[in-house]
Amino acid sequence: LAAAYLERIAASELNAFIDVRPDLTLAQAREADRRRAAGERGPLLGVPVAHKDIFVTRGWRSTAGSRMLADYVSPFDAAVVERLERAGAVCLGKTNCDEFAMGSANESSHFGPARNPWDPSAIPGGSSGGAAAAVAAGLAPLATGTDTGGSVRQPAAMCGITGIKPTYGRVSRYGMIAYASSLDQGGAMARSAEDCAVLLSAMAGFDSRDSTSLDRPDEDFSASLERPLDGLRIGLPREFFGAGLSADVRAAVDAALGVLREQGARLVEISLPRTELAIPAYYVIAPAEASSNLSRFDGVRYGHRAQQYGDLLEMYEKTRAEGFGAEVRRRIMVGAYVLSHGYYDAYYLKAQKLRRLIADDFAAAFGQVDLIAGPVSPTVAWKLGEHGDDPVRDYLSDIYTLPASLAGLPGMSVPAGFGEGGRPVGLQLIGNYFDEARLLNVGHRFQ
Ligand code: GLN
Repeated sequence: LAAAYLERIAASELNAFIDVRPDLTLAQAREADRRRAAGERGPLLGVPVAHKDIFVTRGWRSTAGSRMLADYVSPFDAAVVERLERAGAVCLGKTNCDEFAMGSANESSHFGPARNPWDPSAIPGGSSGGAAAAVAAGLAPLATGTDTGGSVRQPAAMCGITGIKPTYGRVSRYGMIAYASSLDQGGAMARSAEDCAVLLSAMAGFDSRDSTSLDRPDEDFSASLERPLDGLRIGLPREFFGAGLSADVRAAVDAALGVLREQGARLVEISLPRTELAIPAYYVIAPAEASSNLSRFDGVRYGHRAQQYGDLLEMYEKTRAEGFGAEVRRRIMVGAYVLSHGYYDAYYLKAQKLRRLIADDFAAAFGQVDLIAGPVSPTVAWKLGEHGDDPVRDYLSDIYTLPASLAGLPGMSVPAGFGEGGRPVGLQLIGNYFDEARLLNVGHRFQ
Protein backbone atom coordinates (compact mmCIF):
# COMPACT_ATOMS: atom_id res chain seq x y z
CA LEU A 1 0.00 0.00 0.00
CA ALA A 2 2.76 2.43 0.96
CA ALA A 3 4.66 1.60 -2.24
CA ALA A 4 1.54 2.24 -4.34
CA TYR A 5 1.05 5.67 -2.77
CA LEU A 6 4.75 6.52 -3.19
CA GLU A 7 4.41 5.78 -6.91
CA ARG A 8 1.45 8.11 -7.21
CA ILE A 9 3.29 10.83 -5.31
CA ALA A 10 6.30 10.49 -7.62
CA ALA A 11 4.07 10.82 -10.70
CA SER A 12 2.11 13.84 -9.36
CA GLU A 13 2.67 17.44 -10.45
CA LEU A 14 0.72 19.07 -7.65
CA ASN A 15 3.81 19.95 -5.55
CA ALA A 16 1.89 18.58 -2.57
CA PHE A 17 5.00 17.23 -0.82
CA ILE A 18 8.14 18.95 0.45
CA ASP A 19 9.98 15.82 1.54
CA VAL A 20 9.50 12.21 0.49
CA ARG A 21 11.82 9.46 1.71
CA PRO A 22 10.79 6.11 0.21
CA ASP A 23 13.49 4.29 2.20
CA LEU A 24 12.05 5.49 5.51
CA THR A 25 8.43 4.97 4.44
CA LEU A 26 9.05 1.42 3.28
CA ALA A 27 10.96 0.59 6.45
CA GLN A 28 7.95 1.74 8.47
CA ALA A 29 5.63 -0.28 6.25
CA ARG A 30 7.73 -3.42 6.81
CA GLU A 31 7.62 -2.77 10.54
CA ALA A 32 3.79 -2.55 10.36
CA ASP A 33 3.79 -5.87 8.48
CA ARG A 34 5.84 -7.43 11.26
CA ARG A 35 3.48 -6.11 13.92
CA ARG A 36 0.52 -7.47 11.99
CA ALA A 37 2.18 -10.86 11.57
CA ALA A 38 2.74 -10.89 15.33
CA GLY A 39 -1.03 -10.63 15.82
CA GLU A 40 -1.43 -6.90 16.40
CA ARG A 41 -4.62 -5.30 15.05
CA GLY A 42 -5.79 -1.71 14.82
CA PRO A 43 -7.54 0.60 12.37
CA LEU A 44 -4.33 2.43 11.43
CA LEU A 45 -1.87 -0.46 11.39
CA GLY A 46 -0.10 -0.23 8.03
CA VAL A 47 -2.18 2.73 6.85
CA PRO A 48 -0.17 5.50 5.15
CA VAL A 49 -0.49 9.05 6.47
CA ALA A 50 1.11 12.28 5.22
CA HIS A 51 2.26 14.83 7.79
CA LYS A 52 2.00 18.55 7.30
CA ASP A 53 5.51 19.94 7.36
CA ILE A 54 4.76 21.78 10.59
CA PHE A 55 5.03 18.57 12.63
CA VAL A 56 8.65 17.71 13.28
CA THR A 57 9.78 14.24 12.29
CA ARG A 58 12.95 12.31 12.91
CA GLY A 59 14.49 11.39 9.55
CA TRP A 60 12.41 13.52 7.19
CA ARG A 61 13.14 17.21 6.91
CA SER A 62 10.96 19.56 8.97
CA THR A 63 10.85 22.87 7.13
CA ALA A 64 7.58 24.65 8.06
CA GLY A 65 7.61 25.68 4.39
CA SER A 66 10.46 28.09 5.12
CA ARG A 67 13.92 28.71 3.75
CA MET A 68 14.89 29.21 7.40
CA LEU A 69 14.43 25.47 8.02
CA ALA A 70 14.95 24.20 4.47
CA ASP A 71 17.57 21.62 5.53
CA TYR A 72 16.51 21.11 9.11
CA VAL A 73 16.13 17.54 10.40
CA SER A 74 14.59 17.28 13.85
CA PRO A 75 16.18 15.03 16.47
CA PHE A 76 12.72 14.06 17.78
CA ASP A 77 9.16 13.35 16.63
CA ALA A 78 6.16 15.58 17.35
CA ALA A 79 3.62 14.05 19.74
CA VAL A 80 1.19 13.56 16.85
CA VAL A 81 3.82 11.76 14.77
CA GLU A 82 4.74 9.60 17.75
CA ARG A 83 1.11 8.70 18.51
CA LEU A 84 0.37 7.75 14.91
CA GLU A 85 3.51 5.67 14.67
CA ARG A 86 2.47 3.86 17.83
CA ALA A 87 -0.89 3.15 16.17
CA GLY A 88 1.00 1.58 13.26
CA ALA A 89 0.49 4.34 10.68
CA VAL A 90 3.17 4.66 8.00
CA CYS A 91 4.54 8.14 7.23
CA LEU A 92 4.41 8.96 3.50
CA GLY A 93 6.30 12.23 3.75
CA LYS A 94 5.90 15.89 4.60
CA THR A 95 3.27 18.01 2.90
CA ASN A 96 3.65 21.48 1.49
CA CYS A 97 2.25 24.43 3.42
CA ASP A 98 2.40 28.18 3.75
CA GLU A 99 5.58 29.40 5.43
CA PHE A 100 5.14 28.81 9.18
CA ALA A 101 1.44 28.14 8.38
CA MET A 102 0.87 31.83 7.63
CA GLY A 103 -1.48 32.01 4.70
CA SER A 104 -4.73 30.94 3.11
CA ALA A 105 -3.49 29.81 -0.30
CA ASN A 106 -0.25 27.84 0.10
CA GLU A 107 1.38 30.61 -1.93
CA SER A 108 3.83 31.69 0.77
CA SER A 109 5.70 28.37 0.81
CA HIS A 110 9.42 28.65 0.11
CA PHE A 111 9.01 25.46 -1.94
CA GLY A 112 6.47 26.98 -4.33
CA PRO A 113 2.70 26.67 -4.25
CA ALA A 114 0.86 23.37 -4.15
CA ARG A 115 -1.90 23.08 -6.73
CA ASN A 116 -5.58 22.26 -6.53
CA PRO A 117 -6.24 18.82 -8.08
CA TRP A 118 -9.66 19.96 -9.35
CA ASP A 119 -8.03 22.81 -11.27
CA PRO A 120 -4.23 23.03 -11.25
CA SER A 121 -4.38 26.74 -12.09
CA ALA A 122 -6.12 27.32 -8.74
CA ILE A 123 -4.80 27.38 -5.18
CA PRO A 124 -5.49 24.34 -2.96
CA GLY A 125 -6.23 26.68 -0.04
CA GLY A 126 -3.96 27.06 2.94
CA SER A 127 -2.08 26.78 4.96
CA SER A 128 -2.45 22.96 4.89
CA GLY A 129 -2.72 23.09 1.08
CA GLY A 130 -0.36 20.22 0.32
CA ALA A 131 -2.24 17.95 2.74
CA ALA A 132 -5.62 18.75 1.18
CA ALA A 133 -4.31 18.40 -2.37
CA ALA A 134 -2.65 15.07 -1.51
CA VAL A 135 -5.83 13.58 -0.05
CA ALA A 136 -8.06 14.93 -2.83
CA ALA A 137 -5.75 13.57 -5.54
CA GLY A 138 -5.41 10.15 -3.91
CA LEU A 139 -1.73 10.63 -3.03
CA ALA A 140 -2.48 9.86 0.61
CA PRO A 141 -5.54 8.36 2.31
CA LEU A 142 -5.04 10.42 5.47
CA ALA A 143 -3.19 13.60 6.32
CA THR A 144 -2.45 15.64 9.40
CA GLY A 145 -2.92 19.39 9.32
CA THR A 146 -2.72 22.36 11.64
CA ASP A 147 -5.36 25.03 12.05
CA THR A 148 -4.60 28.40 13.66
CA GLY A 149 -7.31 30.40 11.90
CA GLY A 150 -8.77 27.93 9.40
CA SER A 151 -5.84 26.06 7.89
CA VAL A 152 -7.43 22.61 8.15
CA ARG A 153 -11.01 23.62 7.30
CA GLN A 154 -10.39 26.02 4.41
CA PRO A 155 -8.06 23.84 2.27
CA ALA A 156 -10.33 20.85 2.98
CA ALA A 157 -13.23 22.90 1.62
CA MET A 158 -11.30 24.08 -1.43
CA CYS A 159 -10.13 20.58 -2.31
CA GLY A 160 -13.45 18.86 -1.62
CA ILE A 161 -12.30 16.69 1.27
CA THR A 162 -13.17 16.47 4.98
CA GLY A 163 -11.15 18.21 7.69
CA ILE A 164 -11.64 18.65 11.42
CA LYS A 165 -9.93 20.99 13.86
CA PRO A 166 -10.74 19.80 17.37
CA THR A 167 -11.24 21.86 20.51
CA TYR A 168 -8.08 23.80 21.38
CA GLY A 169 -5.99 21.54 23.61
CA ARG A 170 -7.24 18.17 22.29
CA VAL A 171 -4.18 17.52 20.12
CA SER A 172 -0.74 18.04 21.62
CA ARG A 173 1.28 20.94 20.21
CA TYR A 174 4.53 19.26 21.28
CA GLY A 175 6.71 19.23 18.19
CA MET A 176 4.28 21.34 16.16
CA ILE A 177 6.36 24.28 14.91
CA ALA A 178 4.72 27.22 16.66
CA TYR A 179 2.91 30.01 14.86
CA ALA A 180 0.38 31.49 17.33
CA SER A 181 0.39 29.24 20.37
CA SER A 182 -2.97 30.25 21.84
CA LEU A 183 -4.66 29.32 18.55
CA ASP A 184 -2.54 26.53 16.99
CA GLN A 185 -4.27 23.17 16.91
CA GLY A 186 -3.55 19.95 15.05
CA GLY A 187 -6.33 18.41 12.99
CA ALA A 188 -7.28 15.51 10.75
CA MET A 189 -7.86 15.48 6.98
CA ALA A 190 -9.31 12.64 4.90
CA ARG A 191 -11.91 11.87 2.27
CA SER A 192 -14.70 11.20 4.77
CA ALA A 193 -15.79 12.00 8.30
CA GLU A 194 -15.43 8.31 9.09
CA ASP A 195 -11.74 8.35 8.17
CA CYS A 196 -11.21 11.64 10.01
CA ALA A 197 -12.73 10.05 13.12
CA VAL A 198 -10.21 7.20 13.03
CA LEU A 199 -7.29 9.57 12.49
CA LEU A 200 -8.36 12.09 15.13
CA SER A 201 -8.96 9.37 17.73
CA ALA A 202 -5.31 8.38 17.34
CA MET A 203 -3.96 11.97 17.24
CA ALA A 204 -5.84 13.41 20.23
CA GLY A 205 -5.03 12.86 23.87
CA PHE A 206 -3.42 14.39 26.93
CA ASP A 207 0.28 15.22 26.77
CA SER A 208 2.11 16.61 29.78
CA ARG A 209 4.72 18.15 27.45
CA ASP A 210 2.15 20.67 26.17
CA SER A 211 1.07 23.04 28.95
CA THR A 212 -2.28 23.70 27.23
CA SER A 213 -3.10 20.05 26.58
CA LEU A 214 -6.54 19.05 27.87
CA ASP A 215 -6.39 16.47 30.60
CA ARG A 216 -9.35 14.38 29.48
CA PRO A 217 -9.70 10.66 28.86
CA ASP A 218 -9.03 9.44 25.29
CA GLU A 219 -12.14 9.27 23.15
CA ASP A 220 -13.19 7.04 20.28
CA PHE A 221 -14.63 9.55 17.84
CA SER A 222 -15.90 6.74 15.59
CA ALA A 223 -18.33 5.41 18.19
CA SER A 224 -21.31 7.68 17.45
CA LEU A 225 -21.07 8.21 13.68
CA GLU A 226 -24.41 6.53 13.02
CA ARG A 227 -26.41 8.44 15.63
CA PRO A 228 -29.64 9.84 14.08
CA LEU A 229 -29.96 13.60 13.69
CA ASP A 230 -33.62 13.82 14.76
CA GLY A 231 -34.31 16.95 16.73
CA LEU A 232 -30.75 18.28 16.44
CA ARG A 233 -30.88 22.08 16.49
CA ILE A 234 -28.48 23.60 13.98
CA GLY A 235 -27.90 27.36 14.14
CA LEU A 236 -27.27 29.36 10.98
CA PRO A 237 -25.51 32.60 11.93
CA ARG A 238 -27.02 35.49 9.98
CA GLU A 239 -23.54 37.05 9.74
CA PHE A 240 -22.23 34.00 7.83
CA PHE A 241 -24.76 34.48 5.03
CA GLY A 242 -24.36 38.21 4.36
CA ALA A 243 -23.33 40.22 1.33
CA GLY A 244 -19.75 38.91 1.24
CA LEU A 245 -20.83 35.34 0.49
CA SER A 246 -20.68 34.47 -3.21
CA ALA A 247 -23.83 33.08 -4.80
CA ASP A 248 -22.31 29.78 -5.96
CA VAL A 249 -20.99 28.96 -2.48
CA ARG A 250 -24.30 29.95 -0.94
CA ALA A 251 -26.23 27.63 -3.27
CA ALA A 252 -24.01 24.64 -2.44
CA VAL A 253 -24.17 25.35 1.30
CA ASP A 254 -27.98 25.67 1.15
CA ALA A 255 -28.24 22.33 -0.63
CA ALA A 256 -26.06 20.67 2.02
CA LEU A 257 -28.19 22.18 4.78
CA GLY A 258 -31.21 20.71 3.00
CA VAL A 259 -29.67 17.25 3.44
CA LEU A 260 -29.42 17.84 7.19
CA ARG A 261 -33.03 19.05 7.35
CA GLU A 262 -34.22 15.92 5.54
CA GLN A 263 -32.40 13.86 8.13
CA GLY A 264 -34.41 15.43 10.92
CA ALA A 265 -32.26 18.38 11.97
CA ARG A 266 -33.99 21.65 12.80
CA LEU A 267 -32.38 24.72 11.19
CA VAL A 268 -32.61 27.86 13.30
CA GLU A 269 -31.42 31.35 12.41
CA ILE A 270 -29.06 32.73 15.04
CA SER A 271 -26.73 35.69 15.35
CA LEU A 272 -23.02 35.91 16.13
CA PRO A 273 -22.98 39.70 16.18
CA ARG A 274 -19.21 40.15 16.64
CA THR A 275 -18.26 38.02 13.61
CA GLU A 276 -16.69 40.82 11.59
CA LEU A 277 -14.41 41.74 14.50
CA ALA A 278 -12.73 38.35 14.19
CA ILE A 279 -10.51 39.56 11.36
CA PRO A 280 -8.96 42.57 13.13
CA ALA A 281 -8.72 40.64 16.41
CA TYR A 282 -7.02 37.63 14.81
CA TYR A 283 -4.66 39.66 12.65
CA VAL A 284 -3.37 41.42 15.79
CA ILE A 285 -3.20 38.40 18.13
CA ALA A 286 -1.73 35.89 15.67
CA PRO A 287 1.12 38.17 14.47
CA ALA A 288 1.83 39.21 18.09
CA GLU A 289 2.33 35.59 19.12
CA ALA A 290 4.20 34.84 15.89
CA SER A 291 6.68 37.66 16.48
CA SER A 292 7.48 36.13 19.84
CA ASN A 293 7.59 32.49 18.68
CA LEU A 294 9.76 33.23 15.66
CA SER A 295 12.38 35.10 17.67
CA ARG A 296 14.09 31.72 18.18
CA PHE A 297 15.21 31.71 14.53
CA ASP A 298 18.34 33.74 15.06
CA GLY A 299 20.91 31.86 13.01
CA VAL A 300 22.42 30.40 16.17
CA ARG A 301 20.04 27.72 17.35
CA TYR A 302 18.30 26.41 14.24
CA GLY A 303 18.45 26.41 10.51
CA HIS A 304 19.70 29.03 8.12
CA ARG A 305 22.60 31.37 8.94
CA ALA A 306 23.81 34.18 6.68
CA GLN A 307 27.21 33.48 5.12
CA GLN A 308 28.69 36.93 5.38
CA TYR A 309 28.33 39.39 8.22
CA GLY A 310 30.40 41.87 10.21
CA ASP A 311 29.13 41.53 13.76
CA LEU A 312 26.50 39.61 15.71
CA LEU A 313 23.69 42.10 15.05
CA GLU A 314 24.35 42.00 11.33
CA MET A 315 24.35 38.20 11.46
CA TYR A 316 20.85 38.25 13.04
CA GLU A 317 19.57 40.81 10.56
CA LYS A 318 20.89 39.10 7.47
CA THR A 319 19.89 35.64 8.64
CA ARG A 320 16.30 36.68 9.28
CA ALA A 321 16.03 38.80 6.12
CA GLU A 322 17.26 35.88 4.01
CA GLY A 323 15.51 33.08 5.89
CA PHE A 324 12.00 34.51 6.16
CA GLY A 325 9.72 35.26 3.22
CA ALA A 326 7.75 38.50 2.77
CA GLU A 327 4.55 37.42 4.55
CA VAL A 328 6.40 36.12 7.60
CA ARG A 329 8.47 39.30 7.85
CA ARG A 330 5.31 41.40 7.54
CA ARG A 331 3.68 39.54 10.40
CA ILE A 332 6.75 39.75 12.63
CA MET A 333 6.78 43.52 12.12
CA VAL A 334 3.05 43.86 12.79
CA GLY A 335 3.37 41.65 15.86
CA ALA A 336 6.35 43.51 17.29
CA TYR A 337 4.52 46.80 16.72
CA VAL A 338 1.26 45.83 18.44
CA LEU A 339 3.18 44.49 21.44
CA SER A 340 5.44 47.52 21.79
CA HIS A 341 5.24 50.04 24.61
CA GLY A 342 2.57 52.63 23.92
CA TYR A 343 0.68 50.45 21.42
CA TYR A 344 0.05 47.37 23.52
CA ASP A 345 -3.11 48.78 25.13
CA ALA A 346 -4.42 50.24 21.88
CA TYR A 347 -4.02 47.09 19.78
CA TYR A 348 -3.07 43.90 21.59
CA LEU A 349 -5.22 44.39 24.68
CA LYS A 350 -8.17 45.58 22.56
CA ALA A 351 -7.85 42.50 20.36
CA GLN A 352 -7.89 40.26 23.44
CA LYS A 353 -11.11 41.95 24.57
CA LEU A 354 -12.68 41.34 21.16
CA ARG A 355 -11.62 37.73 21.41
CA ARG A 356 -13.54 37.39 24.66
CA LEU A 357 -16.65 39.01 23.13
CA ILE A 358 -16.51 36.61 20.17
CA ALA A 359 -16.33 33.65 22.54
CA ASP A 360 -19.29 35.12 24.46
CA ASP A 361 -21.32 35.24 21.22
CA PHE A 362 -20.76 31.51 20.76
CA ALA A 363 -21.62 30.78 24.40
CA ALA A 364 -24.95 32.58 23.93
CA ALA A 365 -25.62 30.74 20.65
CA PHE A 366 -24.95 27.35 22.22
CA GLY A 367 -27.69 28.16 24.72
CA GLN A 368 -30.10 27.99 21.77
CA VAL A 369 -28.65 25.38 19.41
CA ASP A 370 -26.55 22.20 19.50
CA LEU A 371 -24.38 23.00 16.51
CA ILE A 372 -23.62 25.88 14.14
CA ALA A 373 -23.36 25.56 10.36
CA GLY A 374 -22.36 27.86 7.51
CA PRO A 375 -19.83 28.29 4.73
CA VAL A 376 -16.08 27.75 5.26
CA SER A 377 -14.94 30.38 2.81
CA PRO A 378 -16.79 33.15 0.97
CA THR A 379 -15.62 31.86 -2.44
CA VAL A 380 -14.30 28.74 -4.12
CA ALA A 381 -10.51 28.45 -4.59
CA TRP A 382 -9.11 31.43 -6.44
CA LYS A 383 -6.53 31.26 -9.21
CA LEU A 384 -2.85 31.14 -8.32
CA GLY A 385 -1.57 34.70 -8.14
CA GLU A 386 -5.05 36.19 -8.41
CA HIS A 387 -4.73 38.09 -5.12
CA GLY A 388 -1.43 39.58 -6.28
CA ASP A 389 0.59 41.31 -3.60
CA ASP A 390 -2.43 42.29 -1.54
CA PRO A 391 -2.34 40.19 1.64
CA VAL A 392 -5.51 41.81 2.96
CA ARG A 393 -7.58 40.02 0.31
CA ASP A 394 -6.39 36.72 1.76
CA TYR A 395 -7.02 37.91 5.33
CA LEU A 396 -10.62 38.89 4.52
CA SER A 397 -11.34 35.44 3.09
CA ASP A 398 -10.74 33.96 6.57
CA ILE A 399 -13.89 35.60 7.95
CA TYR A 400 -15.88 32.40 8.59
CA THR A 401 -13.08 30.28 10.05
CA LEU A 402 -11.48 32.79 12.45
CA PRO A 403 -14.33 33.08 14.99
CA ALA A 404 -14.20 29.40 16.07
CA SER A 405 -10.40 29.61 16.26
CA LEU A 406 -10.49 32.64 18.54
CA ALA A 407 -13.04 30.90 20.76
CA GLY A 408 -11.07 27.61 20.77
CA LEU A 409 -14.10 25.70 19.47
CA PRO A 410 -14.00 22.58 17.27
CA GLY A 411 -14.76 23.17 13.60
CA MET A 412 -15.09 20.96 10.58
CA SER A 413 -15.41 21.19 6.82
CA VAL A 414 -17.42 18.63 4.86
CA PRO A 415 -17.76 18.46 1.07
CA ALA A 416 -20.89 20.35 0.00
CA GLY A 417 -20.71 20.09 -3.76
CA PHE A 418 -19.25 22.44 -6.32
CA GLY A 419 -19.31 26.11 -7.26
CA GLU A 420 -17.84 28.31 -9.96
CA GLY A 421 -15.48 26.56 -12.37
CA GLY A 422 -16.39 23.15 -10.92
CA ARG A 423 -14.33 23.93 -7.83
CA PRO A 424 -15.36 22.38 -4.48
CA VAL A 425 -17.34 24.06 -1.71
CA GLY A 426 -17.23 23.12 1.97
CA LEU A 427 -19.93 23.23 4.61
CA GLN A 428 -18.57 24.33 7.97
CA LEU A 429 -19.84 22.78 11.19
CA ILE A 430 -18.88 24.39 14.50
CA GLY A 431 -19.53 22.57 17.76
CA ASN A 432 -19.42 23.44 21.41
CA TYR A 433 -16.26 22.57 23.36
CA PHE A 434 -15.43 18.81 23.22
CA ASP A 435 -18.24 18.13 20.74
CA GLU A 436 -16.02 16.62 18.03
CA ALA A 437 -17.98 13.36 18.06
CA ARG A 438 -21.13 15.30 17.21
CA LEU A 439 -19.43 17.14 14.34
CA LEU A 440 -18.18 13.87 12.89
CA ASN A 441 -21.62 12.31 13.35
CA VAL A 442 -23.19 15.11 11.31
CA GLY A 443 -20.33 15.15 8.79
CA HIS A 444 -20.86 11.40 8.30
CA ARG A 445 -24.16 12.24 6.51
CA PHE A 446 -22.06 13.48 3.58
CA GLN A 447 -20.17 10.34 2.59
N1 GLN B 1 -5.11 32.19 6.98
C1 GLN B 1 -4.83 32.32 8.39
C2 GLN B 1 -3.47 32.97 8.57
O1 GLN B 1 -2.87 33.25 7.61
C3 GLN B 1 -4.90 31.01 9.08
C4 GLN B 1 -3.71 30.17 8.89
C5 GLN B 1 -3.71 28.95 9.78
O2 GLN B 1 -4.75 28.52 10.26
N2 GLN B 1 -2.52 28.42 10.02
O3 GLN B 1 -3.01 33.18 9.63
